[in-house]
Amino acid sequence: MFSTATRTALPRTATRAFSASARANAETLVFLETKGDSLVPSAANAITAAKKVGGKVTGLIIGKDEASVKPAVDRAKKMGLDALLVRTSPALEHALAEPTAPVFAELVKKGGYTHFAAGHSALGKNLFPRVAGLLEVQQISDVMSIQDENTFTRPVYAGNAISTVKSTDSIKLFTVRASTWEPAQEGDKEAEVDVKEAENVGPAQAEWVSEELVKSERPDLATAPTVVSGGRGVKSKEAFDETIIPLADALGAAIGASRAAVDSGYADNSLQVGQTGKVIAPNLYVAVGISGAIQHLAGMKDSKTIVAINKDADAPIFQVADVGLVADLFEAVPELVKKVEEAKK
Ligand code: FAD
Repeated sequence: MFSTATRTALPRTATRAFSASARANAETLVFLETKGDSLVPSAANAITAAKKVGGKVTGLIIGKDEASVKPAVDRAKKMGLDALLVRTSPALEHALAEPTAPVFAELVKKGGYTHFAAGHSALGKNLFPRVAGLLEVQQISDVMSIQDENTFTRPVYAGNAISTVKSTDSIKLFTVRASTWEPAQEGDKEAEVDVKEAENVGPAQAEWVSEELVKSERPDLATAPTVVSGGRGVKSKEAFDETIIPLADALGAAIGASRAAVDSGYADNSLQVGQTGKVIAPNLYVAVGISGAIQHLAGMKDSKTIVAINKDADAPIFQVADVGLVADLFEAVPELVKKVEEAKK
């Protein structure tokens, strides 16, 4: 069910009036998140959203020094940007919010940008509210579409309604839902790269200790074209590994899970799909032993084709499924794996 609500933000700072020609005069800065020395996949989606605003689009990459982000810069400069800023400081190595947010606020103010965008990732969600606070503007979160340079749509009530936000702030600060924007592609045109030491680095109020990354050769869940997810119906971690993983292998898919499967220890919590997990829209989503609670649907209902396997014919997942199989997953999934493998021969 989709309905539309309109919320108008109060003007806080000096308001720049947008006219018909404003779109061409818009200047968007887009933060391009990196992991290690590479761009994260959702950075390419954020570029597409930034381009939708119209006008000039400048990318922003931060890092400890120039060498530490070189592969990301080499890729980003070919992604159709008008310019690319690289700002470095040892304090920015892990993009902790306290040192980084004042750097962003300063760049936006000094550069005269009308829009500042980023992916709606854990990092975007941590950094952007602070930047919004420093700039005294509102943040518009999880943007799904941009109607004009002032008007954005975003999901509310776990994606059951779409809110249209008209902002009158002088700077529109927004994060974008990666799955609703096609990723920008690399082309021949190269943006000019401006590398400088970061200005206005904030205080080191938090210390980066360590991180444990799940290493996997599998496609990234957030951007994979095919996802196989398992739910509580799979019943154990062993059964998850013996049913969901072979099906994902056969289909070349990323693995996802419901929150109940994650809470039961069948899958890592980085694989959770839903309102409090990842929001994805693959071409094919296969839900195995998942009932289809509203919080799970919030993370996958925009998938192009949804296949559900569940032994309960009344399970709500069948209401959103394009193809439904009422069957015991322990019989149906091995049979499906066999058929997929045979079809590949
Ligand atoms: P169940 O609801 O227990 O469903 C299991 C299904 O497996 C059943 O439909 C059953 O018929 C089927 N089944 C059992 N055995 C078999 C078999 N042998 N063969 C075939 N089918 C079988 N959930 C999320 O997934 N993601 C979220 O991000 C999320 N966020 C939440 C946020 C909040 C604030 C709250 C309150 C809840 C959230 N939840 C989330 C939890 C959500 O409400 C559900 O509890 C959860 O999605 C249920 O997971 P499930 O479908 O795997 O389990």
